[in-house]
Amino acid sequence: MTVVNQLKNVQKNIKQACEAGERSAKNVNIIAVTKYVTEARAEEAVKAGLTHLGENRKEGLLQKQAAISDSRVLWHFIGSLQTRKVKDVISHIDYLHSLDRLTLAKEINKRADVPLKCFVQVNISGESSKHGIGEDELMAFIKALKDFSNISIVGLMTMAPHTEDQELIRRIFRRLKNWQEHIMEHGFEHAPCTELSMGMSNDYQIAVQEGATFVRIGSALVGNDG
Ligand SMILES: *Cc1c(COP(=O)(O)O)cnc(C)c1O
Repeated sequence: MTVVNQLKNVQKNIKQACEAGERSAKNVNIIAVTKYVTEARAEEAVKAGLTHLGENRKEGLLQKQAAISDSRVLWHFIGSLQTRKVKDVISHIDYLHSLDRLTLAKEINKRADVPLKCFVQVNISGESSKHGIGEDELMAFIKALKDFSNISIVGLMTMAPHTEDQELIRRIFRRLKNWQEHIMEHGFEHAPCTELSMGMSNDYQIAVQEGATFVRIGSALVGNDG
């Protein structure tokens, strides 16, 4: 299917989820995750009007960037980032969705020329296979980033487990939303934390109902078969 048609479908679902969650669809940004597909397909996504693109590896990011000249595109790094790759990646991205440790924060702070918009990735599901900081460490981590002038905590990110259990997924997204509100109440200058990056192809409707402001959609939008 064309990206245009898939996008219509995704937008319709987001609109419905917004109605169910009593919120405005204007506040939901769609990130087209292009990690599985070709440069041509990523270009098709941009032509369809998508201006947020997400990649999870340095190589894929640089390939897509070389192919896409539209300067309106904002680039999201959604995968876990090795500390030694920070210097090659940060000047190429507008958002990092996977800040989850102090060593990574230190390296970003040292290497960045301008403050980088970061989501702190939280491991709500507690699965050991998932990246992200534990809930018990989250507040201390946010506070520890206070003096990192090149890091701006724009929000929180999580990944729900692969499960058919929709209520479990919903509880996880709701918990992330609660943490976001809790952090916002502190009014930290370095951590406005107004955004929530949650929801993928399988669970973005639930995420939107629970307050996602960025959904990261690959398979259901641009496909996953190259
Ligand atoms: C691959 C990936 C996505 C998109 O996955 P789909 O299920 O294809 O929508 C979203 N977020 C992260 C962190 C990913 O790695």
